Amino acid sequence: MNSKQMCQSCGMPLSNDPNGGGTNSFGGKSEKYCSYCFQKGEFTYKGTVTEFQEFCRIKMKENGHSAFKSWLFSRGMKRLERWK
Ligand SMILES: [Zn+2]
Repeated sequence: MNSKQMCQSCGMPLSNDPNGGGTNSFGGKSEKYCSYCFQKGEFTYKGTVTEFQEFCRIKMKENGHSAFKSWLFSRGMKRLERWK
C-alpha cells in the first residue's frame, strides 16, 4: 500500500475510514488524514505523539484488538508526516 493512502497522523489506511477521510477547513476531503484525526481543518487530538500513541492503543483495545497489535500499530506513528 502506498503511504499516501494512509492517515499521516495515526496510520490507519484511509480505505478503512467509513467517512473516506477527514475534512479540510474549506469543506473538502483531506487526502492525508482520516476523519478520526482531522475535522474541519483541525486535529481532533492535540498532544504529543507519545500521548497520541497511548490514546490510540486504548481505543484499539476497546475495539477488540489485542495489546500486541495495538502496540505494533502505534509504534509506526512516529514516522508519519504529522510527527516529523
Ligand atoms: Zn488518523
